[in-house]
Amino acid sequence: MEEKQYTTIKVRLEPTPAQAELFDKTFGCCRYIWNQMLADEQRFYLETGSHFIPTPAKYKKGAPFLKEVDNQALTQEYNKLSQAFRLFFKHPETFRHPRFKRKKDDRDSFTACNHVFESGPTIYTTRDGIRMTKAGIVKAKFSRRPQAWWKLRRVTVSRSRTGKYYCSILYEYSAEQPERIIPTAETTVGLKCSIQHFYATDGGVLADPPRWLKESREKLAQLQRKLSRMELDSRNYQEAVQKYRLLHEHIANQRRDFLHKESRRIANDWDAVCVRDDALREMAGGALTGGAGSFGYRMFRELLRYKLERQGKSLVVLDRYTPTTRTCSACGYAGEAVWGNTWVCPRCGAVHDREINAARNIKAQGLAQYFGKSA
Ligand SMILES: [Zn+2]
Repeated sequence: MEEKQYTTIKVRLEPTPAQAELFDKTFGCCRYIWNQMLADEQRFYLETGSHFIPTPAKYKKGAPFLKEVDNQALTQEYNKLSQAFRLFFKHPETFRHPRFKRKKDDRDSFTACNHVFESGPTIYTTRDGIRMTKAGIVKAKFSRRPQAWWKLRRVTVSRSRTGKYYCSILYEYSAEQPERIIPTAETTVGLKCSIQHFYATDGGVLADPPRWLKESREKLAQLQRKLSRMELDSRNYQEAVQKYRLLHEHIANQRRDFLHKESRRIANDWDAVCVRDDALREMAGGALTGGAGSFGYRMFRELLRYKLERQGKSLVVLDRYTPTTRTCSACGYAGEAVWGNTWVCPRCGAVHDREINAARNIKAQGLAQYFGKSA
């Protein structure tokens, strides 16, 4: 069966000063048009009781600066606002009423769709750049290359708080749906994620979190402490804040690369991966470091799921209350909570590493869940 699939490549942009100025102008115009359309929608609703969003064209006369930026980006704001209202009307309990955008709170970004004309596409990539409407060719660093048969659908240009420009390129491609692979005990792995180790496998592998992550976290905590002692609004404070943001961003990138590599390796090696739905984020995420200190287990799991499913393989997630550490994986004896690193089963005498024992139980329970048996 053929199926449409999407993938994104995120690249760092290196715009010329003129291109950067154009991007900044576009971010501002997008915010402006969003707020104008939202204000008119609300006014119209008060007057008539029905919902209507004017198109961006209406505003160009009163705000000629809108003509300086890519019209596509403005059209996308219209689409985004319409979508936001649709979601809000349909699921008011989940989605908020669209709100006004403020430079202070909202991310600087704009989106533009690619249109393929006879003369060629409006957006395309070159060896070391991306061609966009109005901006022309913007220099870009690719960490991976798109496949020749992928279709470029749209780009989202954003500016980070540290002043770097990025572009997310969305591609569409049709793919054969992979054939389902039925796992066996030999081709299944149980993973126990913990704070102590990054994860433990039922086969006895203890993967430690990379050392640089620990070091970066410490540096981040140090900076945070320093910031809390500094006088607000002093020049040093601003510099320290910028330093903090840069480090934060750096750690996030490092971590993402690490999680991609680890999940790829595991997804290629095994046909099924069993994990427990642990609430590790709260435990590892320290409020101090704004989440950058955690290992990103949730992201790790979602990457694993995606990489497995793409190959017809499975991620089995156990309920977070499934007992794993208190049960002997050799004989099934269920005891009291264990706190030490090793545990001797009082019934069969097996000596277990706490984490590996848990990984074995996760695998057994996961296989049972996969094949629909109650463990
Ligand atoms: Zn036992």
